[in-house]
Amino acid sequence: MKITDLKCAVIGRNPVVRIVTDAGISGYSAAEVYKPYLKPFVLLFREALIGEDPTDVERVMLKIRQRGGFKPWGAAISTIEMALWDVAGKAAGVPVYKLLGGKVRDRVRVYNGAVRFPMKGYDPEDYVEDVRRMKAAKEGFTIVKEPIAFHSQMKRAVPGFYYGEPSASPFHGALDRGPITERGLKHVIACIEAMKAELGDGIGLALDCGPGWLVADAIRLTKAVEHLNLMWLEDLITGDYVPHVSAGLFREVTRATSTPIHTGEQIYLRQNFVDLIETRSVSIVGPDPGDVGGIAELKWIAEFADLHGVQMAPHGVGNGVLGLAALIQVSATLPHNFIAFEYPVGDPAWWYEIVEGLPDPIVRNGMIDVIDRPGMGVDLIPERARRYLAEEDKAFFD
Ligand SMILES: [Mg+2]
Repeated sequence: MKITDLKCAVIGRNPVVRIVTDAGISGYSAAEVYKPYLKPFVLLFREALIGEDPTDVERVMLKIRQRGGFKPWGAAISTIEMALWDVAGKAAGVPVYKLLGGKVRDRVRVYNGAVRFPMKGYDPEDYVEDVRRMKAAKEGFTIVKEPIAFHSQMKRAVPGFYYGEPSASPFHGALDRGPITERGLKHVIACIEAMKAELGDGIGLALDCGPGWLVADAIRLTKAVEHLNLMWLEDLITGDYVPHVSAGLFREVTRATSTPIHTGEQIYLRQNFVDLIETRSVSIVGPDPGDVGGIAELKWIAEFADLHGVQMAPHGVGNGVLGLAALIQVSATLPHNFIAFEYPVGDPAWWYEIVEGLPDPIVRNGMIDVIDRPGMGVDLIPERARRYLAEEDKAFFD
């Protein structure tokens, strides 16, 4: 089998990759909804792929992997990797999890994720109302995540939150950084205590906190919430679009507290996880298959983390329904250090009408049954998807 074309269309706001082959099989995958600008970067690799056998996924990846980078630039490579696995699974007539080593579990746990409600403000009562809605959501989540502090508008909404001026830049990621005031720290802790009181001890609470915390402030926070038994505190120091890891700084925080510390969504490739994992600088890593280099890359990191007693909770909030399929396939194969992956939704909602293969309902009691269809298990329906193609992408399914 040979690749005859690599196409990319922006459907909704997700860049969608199609690998076309001479065997009549197409492989599909999608990048995050936040990256509609990615299309030209995906198409840069068209020439390198044409003529290759898509079922030799690793050999194809060796041609292009060195041309990616930390978020967002690894996404083009990662999305191609997932489309290759879709072809390979369809060609073999098996779900992708079979090609990754087979299932460890029949259903995978998710955490929320992308099921979001508008927040009225950033005070404890606003967070209580928000987690109350999440608790009542039909998905029956057993873990939910909330953005706080530098990872939210709290830094603007709470007067004197920190010793710095919130940036006006539209680009998120460590632009806002500095010492948190005593008032700011107390406010964060009050919001967390209020959420935990509402959720009770049956639903785990994770918090996306930064980046932007200084090590000393991060240690103060992590110690102050130890009694609340949180799932994790995410990206305190670096994360999101920060193009480096800072394992040593994370290690100082992790060593100082019993609260689990999590990072990794922006990191590209297994090599960049070695320091974090070998030195146990975090308790949990959270690569995104759509940014780290793909699902095989994520599985390698999970295995390496497991050897070192580090847990795995993959990122995925913006990955859409095709990204959801990839998360399900790889998570089915991960070792027992897998906690849950971050649940994405179709955005806009018509995404659910243009694909087939998703279970109904998708999430039950916070879990998803692993999909047993060839390839990634969720496929675009060209006749239904065509109407959402932009003029310049009209030939995407031809
Ligand atoms: Mg995050």
